[in-house]
Amino acid sequence: MTSAIAENLRIIRDRIANAAIAAGRAADSVTLVAVSKTKPVDAVIEALAAGQTVFGENRVQEAESKFPALRADHRFDLHIIGGLQTNKARDAVRLADVIETLDRPKLADAIAAAMTKENRQPRLLIEVNTGDEAQKSGVSRTDADGFISDCKGRFGAQLIGLMCVPPHDQDPRPHFEWLAARAAKHGLGTVSMGMSADFEIAIACGATWVRVGSAIFGSR
Ligand SMILES: *Cc1c(COP(=O)(O)O)cnc(C)c1O
Repeated sequence: MTSAIAENLRIIRDRIANAAIAAGRAADSVTLVAVSKTKPVDAVIEALAAGQTVFGENRVQEAESKFPALRADHRFDLHIIGGLQTNKARDAVRLADVIETLDRPKLADAIAAAMTKENRQPRLLIEVNTGDEAQKSGVSRTDADGFISDCKGRFGAQLIGLMCVPPHDQDPRPHFEWLAARAAKHGLGTVSMGMSADFEIAIACGATWVRVGSAIFGSR
């Protein structure tokens, strides 16, 4: 029997491939990050069984409770996609293959120190608060260019791209277009944008990673 999660994954993968083709891109040019926050580890195991190999979690503590034990039997990449407190940087560096939410100099310091201590180099994305929302993490648009350049100098090839979560009450398109243009301007190949409600729009605007949760694992 096919699980609901496996069926949802099949549908989302089809939609991603179709959106990529519609945008004149290769069907396999977009990576699906399956966002398993708040869902039990059994849901992750179902997704792994269905061939999913990239996962996203918002909170370091929740990631720690679910993912390390799975490494013995499974190959996957774990992404931290939620705003990161400086005091969680070391745990994030130890656990994650990618940290998508580098957004301020103090966090860059903490991540750099943690990489040395843990002797582990997760890849990094810079989160941009494209809507300049007070409650949201991410570097402001105004500070983005300077911060991106600083982080390129500091982290070199470990810095691979940009990420954003547009305001939920606005058309995401201008935010997606802005982020893709910024990534291109800085020669960064990875653009992480688009969620369950808008990943096809994000792909049309140049997303190379989409982060999809509820459309795979059900509502939270
Ligand atoms: C929860 C979350 C997602 C996935 O959202 P869905 O609407 O469930 O697809 C993607 N990105 C971030 C940063 C999130 O917090």
